[in-house]
Amino acid sequence: MPDPNGFLRYERRLPARRPVAVRITDWREVYPSAGEELIREQATRCMDCGIPFCHDGCPLGNRIPDWNDLVRTGSWDAAVESLHATNNFPEFTGRLCPAPCEAACVLGLGGQQPVTIKQVEVEIADAAVARGGLNPRPVPASTGRSVAVVGSGPAGLAAAQQLARAGHAVTVYERDDAIGGLLRYGIPDFKLEKQHIDRRLAQLAAEGVQFRTGVNVGVDVTAEELRARHDAVLLACGALQGRDTPETPGRPLRGVHQAMTHLVAANRVVAAAGDGRPAPAVLPDGTPIDAAGKHVVIIGGGDTAADCLGVAHRQGAAGVHQLDLYPEPPHGRDAERDPWPTWPWVLRNYPAHEEGGERVFAVAVQEFVDDGTGQVKGVRIAEVTVERRDGRRIVTALPGSERELPADLVLLAIGFEGTEEQPLLAQFGVTRNARGAVDARPDWQTDADGVFVAGDMHRGASLIVWAIAEGRAAAAAIHSYLGGVGDLPAPVDPARQPLAAR
Ligand SMILES: Cc1cc2nc3c(=O)[nH]c(=O)nc-3n(C[C@H](O)[C@H](O)[C@H](O)COP(=O)(O)OP(=O)(O)OC[C@H]3O[C@@H](n4cnc5c(N)ncnc54)[C@H](O)[C@@H]3O)c2cc1C
Ligand code: SF4
Repeated sequence: MPDPNGFLRYERRLPARRPVAVRITDWREVYPSAGEELIREQATRCMDCGIPFCHDGCPLGNRIPDWNDLVRTGSWDAAVESLHATNNFPEFTGRLCPAPCEAACVLGLGGQQPVTIKQVEVEIADAAVARGGLNPRPVPASTGRSVAVVGSGPAGLAAAQQLARAGHAVTVYERDDAIGGLLRYGIPDFKLEKQHIDRRLAQLAAEGVQFRTGVNVGVDVTAEELRARHDAVLLACGALQGRDTPETPGRPLRGVHQAMTHLVAANRVVAAAGDGRPAPAVLPDGTPIDAAGKHVVIIGGGDTAADCLGVAHRQGAAGVHQLDLYPEPPHGRDAERDPWPTWPWVLRNYPAHEEGGERVFAVAVQEFVDDGTGQVKGVRIAEVTVERRDGRRIVTALPGSERELPADLVLLAIGFEGTEEQPLLAQFGVTRNARGAVDARPDWQTDADGVFVAGDMHRGASLIVWAIAEGRAAAAAIHSYLGGVGDLPAPVDPARQPLAAR
């Protein structure tokens, strides 16, 4: 029986982040462990309210009050079991999820601070490693059926683990040189150190999942060949088509890049250093890309922009501006606009924002300014208003508000336009919809029979928790398509959307 008064006795508390002056000198994670005493105290704040809206806030349907109470009582092994019943990779979500569950916590209704659900989750995930490791669960008998998973991000990996544990032979094909999708080279180590991925991959491998890196499906192996080798195919290729701004004058200048090219180059340097192979930050064509000593302008206000900010400071940028088209959001929930338990539009301060830089809201770039040699030297911005008319976004610059910011490196973090157009799509006979995503039927199959889709490739650029949820659900559908015995858990259906008031 949970403690019904815990939230009255304890305030919400998180562990202190590593000091800024220390953490920007390395690439290690920002948060230290909470420690057992603090995390048991915080888990005690969960009153097991009876109708846990946090379940609906979490796309995985994590059994949050159950494991909060197990942590409260120090029953760590049972907490590990309970958490893994719904989430294949809590060490990823516990570190990286924006925690829509916390926005839906019932404590938020009465003006209280929500339970630190995400922190409890990561502590349970780390306890699993500390208490004997991530033990593999190989199945004794094989079904004799085989599945190809294309793409090794959280969606592909969650599906692979579910299917392998159901007895199917699973091969994950990844075009990159390492497994992990965006977790590997997209998300910096200061948010997710890569040993967490490697530990999980060791578990999956021990459960029978085969990994093939450096295989670009549609180029190195055709769809036809893949279909001949396997009984079903899951496409989990992500939504990596970066939005650009070709109409802005000066876009072709040197020094103006897609944010992902900067992040991937920087993360590869960290990975190489970890392997004892020092390497400079370069683009695939060898062009150097590094923020050291530079004035950096980051355009965009989301996860990608914040990751660029943290990377720029660790590389030694001279100064950083982060530009957002929209006005500064409110600092607390606007209950008229986003009533509890929905995900509110509020100012999100990432740890990277504590590390320096200036955020500029309600501005739009008018021009990337040339230094006369074809290299960017500045960004001319104007204050703007943004409104929606007939479903279209209208951006209006305020006359006389223009000014120039110094910029030697400009990073475009203005979102993604769905999955990339690539040969694999036509070969499998699937098409991108108006959002650039690939539609799924209610059983997760695409227009092509036996070809399933999950994660960002289906949903559009989203979150790790959704990718895992869709990977699990698609695995359940594939298991049923292959005539597997019993049902696998399917936390979401393809039409499921986040909690919303309208
Ligand atoms: C910079 C950045 C930071 C982010 N930070 C967060 C965060 O803090 N929290 C959070 O919840 N979410 C975050 N996200 C979003 C999150 O990373 C994604 O929603 C999630 O990774 C999607 O998982 P996925 O498996 O669908 O695809 P991905 O992780 O994108 O993986 C797709 C994989 O498919 C491979 N692939 C594509 N085509 C082929 C092919 N033809 N053959 C073989 N392989 C192929 C790609 O190389 C890639 O490895 C962030 C995203 C970005 C870009
Ligand atoms: S996965 Fe995200 S939404 Fe679900 S319990 Fe963890 S932090 Fe909350």
